[in-house]
Amino acid sequence: MIGLVLRSTGSWYEVKADDGNTYQCRTRGKLRLSGVKTTNPIAVGDIVEFDREDNENTGLIHKIQPRENYIIRKSIKNKNHGHIIASNLDQVLLVATLTYPKTSLGFIDRFLVSAEAFRIPQIIVFNKSDLLNEKDQKKLAEIIETYEHIGVTCLTCSAQNNEGIEPIKEILKGKKTLISGHSGVGKSTLINSIDPNLNLKTSEVSDFAEKGVHTTTFAEMFQLDDDTFIIDTPGIKELGLIDIEEEELSDYFPEMRELSGDCKFHNCKHLHEPGCAIQMAVDEGEIAESRYKSYLSMLEDSDNRR
Ligand code: GDP
Ligand code: ZN
Repeated sequence: MIGLVLRSTGSWYEVKADDGNTYQCRTRGKLRLSGVKTTNPIAVGDIVEFDREDNENTGLIHKIQPRENYIIRKSIKNKNHGHIIASNLDQVLLVATLTYPKTSLGFIDRFLVSAEAFRIPQIIVFNKSDLLNEKDQKKLAEIIETYEHIGVTCLTCSAQNNEGIEPIKEILKGKKTLISGHSGVGKSTLINSIDPNLNLKTSEVSDFAEKGVHTTTFAEMFQLDDDTFIIDTPGIKELGLIDIEEEELSDYFPEMRELSGDCKFHNCKHLHEPGCAIQMAVDEGEIAESRYKSYLSMLEDSDNRR
């Protein structure tokens, strides 16, 4: 049988099969997919092939279909290892807030880079619009302009007041969307207002979760309708990239990618090199300073990892 992995606890996988039923599956033997080393062989969003066990809602997974893309969280201990949070995504959505708490632009940019590395389309939802005064609203408009300029879809809402939810539902329709955000930004409130049935905090505890193997750091996929899925990422603070090469980093900033071919030196890191098209674009206001600052800070991180 073939199915979609909705949840994972590390050793058990909840798989929605093509017969419409959900099976609790384990793996048989070693499953290997080429590429990056991961601490989890199977991730939420994977399409797997499995054998159903006799008359049970359990199965044994024997194959993972190649992933179109994935979002990974780096291992702190070993930079060459990571935990795949979710795979085969159509888009990612970051819930951000200007105040209470403030989501930093640096954090937003890191999130976007993680998705851009796989060319996964990105959405930012600015929540808690009810808390914004006039000055905040102006600031938010500027931030939105910066991100729409680089092709990111931006929406605002107040999950608490149920305002601005329809356009978000619309954008999720027919897609598999990973939803992320700092704790406190209202991600759970938003998900509940998108689909009140989910009732995230009191979500039904399945039998195997009661055995205590369930932890909140695993992503969970919810089906909103036939072809609409969202993936919640509770407790996941930051997405990551495994081993970005310094030379690659600017490829993951769309506005820099377009220009980097115009730099005088082909291995330009866009720091202080003469004839750098990107520094020039920053000076001319074509590239936002905040974005360039994020680039520099990420470059520094990749330096420190060496
Ligand atoms: P999560 O950690 O991102 O899942 O955040 P929660 O959904 O648990 O929300 C954190 C807090 O923010 C709660 O006290 C919510 O009531 C509050 N909150 C959520 N959305 C809004 C909103 O649109 N406006 C305001 N003012 N508060 C909100
Ligand atoms: Zn340059």
